[in-house]
Amino acid sequence: MSLMNGKRGVVMGVANDHSIAWGIAKTLAAQGAELAFTYQGEALGRRVKPLAESLGSDTVLPCDVEDLESVDALFAQLAEKWGSIDFLVHAIGFSDKNELKGRYADTTRANFTRTMVISCFSFTELAKRAAAIMPDGGSLITLTYGGSTRVMPNYNVMGVAKAALEASVRYLAADYGPQGIRVNAISAGPIRTLAGAGIADARLMFNYQKRHAPLRRTVTLDEVGGAALYLTSDLSTGVTGEVHFVDSGYNIISMPHPDALKT
Ligand code: NAD
Repeated sequence: MSLMNGKRGVVMGVANDHSIAWGIAKTLAAQGAELAFTYQGEALGRRVKPLAESLGSDTVLPCDVEDLESVDALFAQLAEKWGSIDFLVHAIGFSDKNELKGRYADTTRANFTRTMVISCFSFTELAKRAAAIMPDGGSLITLTYGGSTRVMPNYNVMGVAKAALEASVRYLAADYGPQGIRVNAISAGPIRTLAGAGIADARLMFNYQKRHAPLRRTVTLDEVGGAALYLTSDLSTGVTGEVHFVDSGYNIISMPHPDALKT
């Protein structure tokens, strides 16, 4: 089975081999996808290049989404190399660590704006440029978290940014649907990554979800990769505007099962 044979796309957000974007890249490459990677800054570039090479990719390009020139340069290079693309994976998020603890109420204007631009609006800006090189339609996916709709301690402004990101997914799906471009989000349960470690008490949140999710465990990079494969391949051609949970079912729980509270 090679679900991604003949498909080309760009994976944004690999920082190291623990990154969700890396889990997705491995799964898509194993199914025959041809991949380009981006990195933010030269230090991360040195880590991403060997990872990309291990999947047979020689297209590793800088892109900092805060810098629109680098975003434009990325798409100019992709257009020159391939002419068109079939999918884009946006696994990018950032907020000041000092505000991923304490109260949301204390968020500063500067960090609110920066968090929104990097973690939310960048997807809209990338979608516009990706759509311009998707003449035959395509698939755009982003990563979100359940802190968008329910309060997670310390997630704070990231929760607000993820809510806006999920709303963007629906509006972009409506805008690009007529061009055959699908737009979806994967809402992943907690995974130990660089970005995840920036949230205060991340370990407690991780262990709580492990204990109380219906599957009684957290999720793996491969499981998020599987959902990304579904959403970027022709398996999901009728699906757009969705937020698809890969969280061991944690999102359906109101109160933890009494048995889990007794032990
Ligand atoms: P990660 O630290 O491995 O990846 C975050 C990536 O964002 C990094 O590659 C970083 O370089 C990139 N990034 C940050 N600012 C950028 C900028 N200005 N320009 C370009 N890239 C920038 O962590 P991750 O957990 O794999 O995060 C990927 C996505 O998954 C994020 O959107 C995150 O919110 C989301 N997510 C993570 C979890 C989790 O528990 N780890 C759960 C659900 C959703």
